[in-house]
Amino acid sequence: MLEIKNLHARIGDNEILKGLTLTVPAGEVHAIMGPNGSGKSTLSYVLSGKPDYEVTEGTATFNGQDILSLAPEERAAAGVFLAFQYPIEIPGVANMQFLRAAMNAQKKARGEEEISTPDFLKLVRAKAPDLGITQDMLRRGVNVGFSGGEKKRNEILQMALLEPKLCILDETDSGLDIDALKVVAQGVNALRSPDRAMLVITHYQRLLDHIVPDVVHVMHKGRIVRSGGAELALELEESGYAAYGQDAA
Ligand code: ADP
Ligand code: MG
Ligand code: MG
Repeated sequence: MLEIKNLHARIGDNEILKGLTLTVPAGEVHAIMGPNGSGKSTLSYVLSGKPDYEVTEGTATFNGQDILSLAPEERAAAGVFLAFQYPIEIPGVANMQFLRAAMNAQKKARGEEEISTPDFLKLVRAKAPDLGITQDMLRRGVNVGFSGGEKKRNEILQMALLEPKLCILDETDSGLDIDALKVVAQGVNALRSPDRAMLVITHYQRLLDHIVPDVVHVMHKGRIVRSGGAELALELEESGYAAYGQDAA
């Protein structure tokens, strides 16, 4: 399980997380909602180890292990996965090659053997079609020329192959039409499991129609200010974030 206590983090002189406390037990899906600029992406970056973020106070442990002291690749090996709000394009690195390298890096860090070519191909062929990832998209450079929805589905394919223990999805729904949203949600729901914790960050309620969370948290100005059941998302849809100084729209 993920346990965050009184987390403070800054970029330069700008403190963005200001005492965030959050617990996500294994087997649960927690949603984090909140107005733009409340620090949702910052939380995902701090947990995944993006450089330039300085943690000044507080702790974050995953299954009892202090993840903040680990290098980003060690966090990945420990099972932490972040699906980016803005997936990047990597020209010159074929998607297939990238997926395999990511899997093997994780296996190496865990002291496991590399995956064989036939096993890898079998795995990709089993998982890619459900997410609408075509052969062509596997051959192309990572995310190169992909639509917004294709990039997000490609993030979910990475997640499905790596089978992380802690999945963090940062606004995976942004920019998706309803069909793409359903494909992404199905991919995420397929990964729900008793030994896996998921943190689904979203600005809008609609994703949570398809990925029904166990708990909804509202983040505002770098802290969790409210927590409740799935119905809290519906309430926010009605009232917007006006109470938190911003309209939902
Ligand atoms: P959210 O994901 O909830 O929209 P972010 O985590 O992206 O929020 O941003 C939180 C705050 O941190 C915002 O006020 C934003 O302007 C600020 N911020 C984000 N990235 C940087 C950066 N690289 N340097 C300085 N401030 C930043
Ligand atoms: Mg934002
Ligand atoms: Mg964000």
